Amino acid sequence: MQLDIFLGENTMDVSLKQEKSGLPLGKLNYIMAAIMLVVSALLIYATYQASNGYERVNAATENYITLEQSASSIKDATDYLTEQARNFVMTGEKKYLQNYFLEVNVTRRRESAMAMLRGTSSPEAYEKLEDAMKQSQAQMSLEYYAMRLTISAYGYNPSDFPVELQSTTLLSKDAKLSRADKQTRAQQMVLDSAYLEKKAAIDEDLRAYLLGLEAETRGQQDEAADQMRTLLETQRLLVFTLILIFVVVIMMNSFLIINPLMKGILHIRTEQPIPISGSYEFQYLARTYNLMFVANQKKTNALAYEASHDKLTGLYNRVEYDQLLKSTDMMTSALLLIDVDKFKSVNDTYGHDMGDRVLKHIATVLKESFRSGDFICRIGGDEFATIMVNSGPQFTELIRGKINHINERLQNPQDDLPAVSLSVGVAFGSEQHGTGSIVKDADLALYQVKEHGRCDVKFFTPALTANLSSLPERK
Ligand code: GH3
Ligand code: MG
Repeated sequence: MQLDIFLGENTMDVSLKQEKSGLPLGKLNYIMAAIMLVVSALLIYATYQASNGYERVNAATENYITLEQSASSIKDATDYLTEQARNFVMTGEKKYLQNYFLEVNVTRRRESAMAMLRGTSSPEAYEKLEDAMKQSQAQMSLEYYAMRLTISAYGYNPSDFPVELQSTTLLSKDAKLSRADKQTRAQQMVLDSAYLEKKAAIDEDLRAYLLGLEAETRGQQDEAADQMRTLLETQRLLVFTLILIFVVVIMMNSFLIINPLMKGILHIRTEQPIPISGSYEFQYLARTYNLMFVANQKKTNALAYEASHDKLTGLYNRVEYDQLLKSTDMMTSALLLIDVDKFKSVNDTYGHDMGDRVLKHIATVLKESFRSGDFICRIGGDEFATIMVNSGPQFTELIRGKINHINERLQNPQDDLPAVSLSVGVAFGSEQHGTGSIVKDADLALYQVKEHGRCDVKFFTPALTANLSSLPERK
């Protein structure tokens, strides 16, 4: 249900029903909070993933270093064996032989490196290591033989030496050589090109293994870096989404709360109903306020009307008349004081109710006879007054005509009303106030009418003040 209510200059639709319109702020708040929570959780998750990616890059590098060290230890061990074997072959000192077998049977650097590297790299890369180990074994066989020759050259007892050497038997042609030749032959074996080729082949295999390992590591690093790039892009997107949500929340705040509130406050200050805008909750408040505002305005208007109007005739009352005399520019106005003639007898003859009807009828006739801008008041029981604005003595005949016409109408009533007449005294504000006030001037003129037979209009003239002292005191 809609009401068009006129409030001063503002006509506004005030809905009596609380319609469901506008975005519900409560719900929106929950939705935005939920979206922000999800996006923030995703962002935190993405940062964890990014740090995991970083760890993976690190781990791949660390792993490469460890594997590279292990692979190098195979080479170191092989070189160490070569060195010890050569030293023994050159000097015949048993300590080198002990060192050699300590590496072969106890330290076992190559074997532990192989065990460590098994499964940590691709099968292709690991194959290269196995090849290197095979070459190393082959090299060792040469070294065993050279060392066995040296034992024989120095005349050592073979049973004092490790089983590997005991089980190495010399070819008969070598066994027949002289001690010096055996020594020379042994030295040749650990220095000749066949021996060096084997060493080079080991180095080659290890290098190939390391190249494979490097390629694998680079692959792992590239993969991790790609993942990190994707994660960073996701993070950027999430941060952008958060900023977007933030902007949306600010705009929501502006459009749904702050703007309507500011407009609302402005309207409250200027005593107008609040525009229905913003969120559902604000619109609900605004409608409720408007309903109360309209009800209050109506009550205030009714009270103001009651305070300034006469109940019986609807004309301005005495209080308002006194006010109008003060607020109107009386210098440019005419004041008409009007009194019903012999009204007591109307009441006496026809009763008080009929008297009231006559008063109402007089009010209607007066309203119809003057301009809408003039003020018509009931200032006493059967007394009326009209303030004609912007009126001077040039209106004298016009006023006389009006009063005569009014009296004619009142004396020839259309329905069952009794005939009555009015006595009217007029004073112009632009004339000198002979009595000191325009009210007294008009009153003096009215008195003259009453004195001279009633049912007439008289205009104040200074001559009327001659017998002023003999006038009875009027309200
Ligand atoms: P005059 O020509 O000298 O004015 O004679 P009058 O009888 O009209 O005398 P006056 O103006 O003094 O009397 C006014 C009367 O109006 C007195 C009172 O009985 C009557 N009256 C006052 N107020 C009302 C009212 O509200 N209703 C009715 N019906 N009569 C009223
Ligand atoms: Mg009277």
